[in-house]
Amino acid sequence: MPRAGYRPAWVEVDLAAVTHNVRLLADLAAPARLCAVVKADGYGHGAAAVARAALEGGAAVLAVALVEEGVALRDAGIEAPVLLLSEPTADGIAEAIGRELTVTCYTPGGVAAAAAAARRRGAPTRVHLKVDTGMHRVGAAAEDVAGLAAAVDAEPALVLGGLWTHLAVADDPADPFTGDQLQQFHAVATALAGAGIHPPVRHAANTAAAIAFPAARLDLVRCGIGCYGYAPSPACRDLLTTALAGREGLRPVLSLKARVHLVRHLPAGERTSYGRTYALDRPGPVAVVPLGYHDGVARALGAAGGEVLVGGVRRRLAGTVTMDQILLDCTGGPPVAPGDEAVLLGRQGGEAITADDWAERLGTISYEVLCGIGPRVPRVPVGMAGAPRR
Ligand SMILES: *Cc1c(COP(=O)(O)O)cnc(C)c1O
Repeated sequence: MPRAGYRPAWVEVDLAAVTHNVRLLADLAAPARLCAVVKADGYGHGAAAVARAALEGGAAVLAVALVEEGVALRDAGIEAPVLLLSEPTADGIAEAIGRELTVTCYTPGGVAAAAAAARRRGAPTRVHLKVDTGMHRVGAAAEDVAGLAAAVDAEPALVLGGLWTHLAVADDPADPFTGDQLQQFHAVATALAGAGIHPPVRHAANTAAAIAFPAARLDLVRCGIGCYGYAPSPACRDLLTTALAGREGLRPVLSLKARVHLVRHLPAGERTSYGRTYALDRPGPVAVVPLGYHDGVARALGAAGGEVLVGGVRRRLAGTVTMDQILLDCTGGPPVAPGDEAVLLGRQGGEAITADDWAERLGTISYEVLCGIGPRVPRVPVGMAGAPRR
């Protein structure tokens, strides 16, 4: 049993699936290159291991949200380019440039801090500028980009390495807003060109746009969720299936598993867990599995009819998810015993439960399910035995 620690509960991370997914997305987006987004500890999968597998699959760049996440990749010995997706504080910019992370700037203060750090470093330092084209989260307003680019251009220690934006609704291929955002992005790039400034790398696409909007692929696509084996929306899944024309699609990377801790035989009508909301409708076994809401099994999954695979059969959650444990209604079906494998996410026998299944029950998206798996659960890499480490 692959596990670390005393609790028999673990995440399996299929690194060969990461490599497969990255290769598939890189082929789709070519000649654009692929940036694998490994923020939030690689969407809960373990950033360094995912980063290595993504580089194996042809990723040219990695991206993270925080300076600390980039530093962790450097500490793990990863030397590939790492792009920061938000502008850090001045202190953070200094640390990032010291560790050869590529800073994204969108304020004059950010450019000034990058210039100061680059001068201390004593080598030409690439920065990317981000423009807000309608998402209205981070990025410079379109009319401010020329001034920022001129400030970068005027600073001998800095090099404008890229210009980018982020799309708000690319997961809906029918929404015209993505076209509007791309048009605005091109207008900004054209204005810079008029001033003699030509950012060598332009990028806009997340996984959804890489699949659904070929015109958004530009020089680089920034793929997160696709690398982990999930399409951003059903519409994107359908488009990808068509584009692949029968070839194998994305493979989910993560499985969440545990071993049954206890089995208790109860009469019909007994009520289980906090609040006693769930009643057994026949006599039989209830299994205790050592994963709970601290581990990312949403408390709401109990009332939402969540299921777990045991003995190749779907078993209903028997009532409220607790912090460290869940209960399963194992009445009516094959016998269950302590030590049996329970699959919360992943495959067992002919059955599978995906992060999309949870997301649908919970009214959320696969992203939140995956990166919500808690830090107590060890991540166990599978599927890359003998692969060279980078
Ligand atoms: C998270 C993120 C991505 C990746 O998005 P996916 O939908 O997971 O592909 C790309 N770009 C930015 C700016 C992000 O924050």
